[in-house]
Amino acid sequence: MAEVGSTRPDETLPCPAVTNRVPENTLVKEPWKHHAPYDMRPESAFGPVKWRGKCLCGEVTYSLNREKPLNAKYCHCRGCQKAHGAPFQWAAIFDKHDMSFTSGASGLAFYSSTHKSQDYNLPTKVSCATCRTPIMDEGRNMCLIFPQLIELEGSEEEQRQKREIFKPTCHMFYESRMIDIPDGLPKWSGMDNSSDRLDDQGKRIEGGK
Ligand SMILES: [Zn+2]
Ligand SMILES: [Zn+2]
Repeated sequence: MAEVGSTRPDETLPCPAVTNRVPENTLVKEPWKHHAPYDMRPESAFGPVKWRGKCLCGEVTYSLNREKPLNAKYCHCRGCQKAHGAPFQWAAIFDKHDMSFTSGASGLAFYSSTHKSQDYNLPTKVSCATCRTPIMDEGRNMCLIFPQLIELEGSEEEQRQKREIFKPTCHMFYESRMIDIPDGLPKWSGMDNSSDRLDDQGKRIEGGK
């Protein structure tokens, strides 16, 4: 198993970026490391791998055993814009049991904006501790993964077709968008199904709830 920072000349010193790499005996205090998606299930328990994901530097890899996400959405909220340094977020929703990190929690960094903490507290943002690629937003039962990390094979056309599986069903928080997206998908001013419906230009649709 590749360990983050193992080539550091001063590896006896604590390194803030790899504080999640803890001795085995502390697992007792951190039961979440025994649960999906961090529990490093053997392939026999996990089932056939449908997709593999990888961060920019390659230290963090994961597998998914479900072909199609439960849902996928674009989110234009300010939090997503800042966290991704992007005009909006593209997230695909999977159950935690659909996912398995190759090296468990090793090499991952956490940030809970609710608790303003880098400790593991749900809900949390999960990123690579080395290259800081956002990996997922983790809730109590679900993981919102970012499909850009999924490794797609084949020609450009084949990759485009595979990407369709992760195609979003709607836009959330379209009111705070950076750009108009005239793709005809349903758009919500805030959370989907519990805010106002907007058109592609952001105008409220009468009676559109
Ligand atoms: Zn990385
Ligand atoms: Zn958001």
